[in-house]
Amino acid sequence: MTFQALLVEKGGDGAVSASVQEIDDARLPDGDVTVAVEYSTLNYKDGLCINGKGGLVRSFPHVPGVDFAGTVEASEDPRYRPGDRVVLTGWRVGEIWWGGFATRAKVKADWLVPLPDELSTRQAMAIGTAGLTSMLSVIALEKAGLSPLKGEVLVTGAAGGVGSVGVALLARLGYSVAAVTGRPDAAGYLRQLGAETIVDRSELSEANSRPLESERWAGAIDAVGGDMLARVLKQTKYGGAVAAVGLAAGAAVPSFTVIPFLLRGVSLLGIDSVMRPYDQRVDAWNRIAADLPMEKLEAMVVEHRLSDLPELANRILDGTVKGRVVIDVNA
Ligand code: NDP
Repeated sequence: MTFQALLVEKGGDGAVSASVQEIDDARLPDGDVTVAVEYSTLNYKDGLCINGKGGLVRSFPHVPGVDFAGTVEASEDPRYRPGDRVVLTGWRVGEIWWGGFATRAKVKADWLVPLPDELSTRQAMAIGTAGLTSMLSVIALEKAGLSPLKGEVLVTGAAGGVGSVGVALLARLGYSVAAVTGRPDAAGYLRQLGAETIVDRSELSEANSRPLESERWAGAIDAVGGDMLARVLKQTKYGGAVAAVGLAAGAAVPSFTVIPFLLRGVSLLGIDSVMRPYDQRVDAWNRIAADLPMEKLEAMVVEHRLSDLPELANRILDGTVKGRVVIDVNA
């Protein structure tokens, strides 16, 4: 048997190229569950893997795709049976293991999560790692004491994948949401998702030497990192918390100081979705099914096919993809 996949290859000159190819099943990795993939999605990391950047892919040829959702075809593990609907995010699938930009995938049963009945495989991929990470951020902020009564919550990189789902989730949970974006034309989109206030990226992207600024945010989900994270920490209210998710503006935080922690008791919460233990994944997917407004999710989605991925990969690395890209691998 064969399956279709986006195969990333490295030429003798070191140049990396990606194309859709028919591949023999015998080339699938040695996992214990075979899944008929229905949908995948596009993450920033996928952009890196498709272009062979960031050192994420160690071995070529490679099938990228960090996330997928589909139906079990065959299983050597008693937890899964043919016909079960499953979702996979993270575990370095699509980086060091063949991933979801394919009509068939073979993975370890430990990495799969049963899809909640309320979600379709397409909705699961409209959510994807980005949405799961937003949910994990909200759960962490709640555990740190955040509630709608505490005040405004900021989401940075708001028009991106993590940000869009974060805005919709927080608004649905009753929070007053402020959304930071560098795209003025995304304001209407963000308001539609539930943002009450739009903050221009330039207001927060410049470093300053002040140890603290006026208290403004009860909490934040930060997908941007860099100096923006330092500015957000300086503006977080006494006892507030910031979930650090991403590094769209860079990993280093040159203007970082510990003053917000020491003088305002602010907490910085690290959010990892990739190696997240199974029970917490199941909880987060169930919370998504309960709390994410599906009509808002649909407003974020643009659907594409496997052959569109090389161009989309460049766009997500340039920061010009809005919302969530869903890949119909059978289209
Ligand atoms: P997207 O590319 O969809 O969104 C990132 C957004 O950040 C952009 O849409 C843009 O938002 C903003 N942005 C981009 N460049 C800059 C810049 N130089 N300065 C300020 N803002 C910028 O990516 P995702 O939402 O999928 O991921 C966001 C980040 O989170 C990435 O760094 C990703 O690696 C990380 N991530 C981490 C996970 C984890 O487990 N911790 C899981 C998933 C993602 P706008 O146009 O609105 O300004």
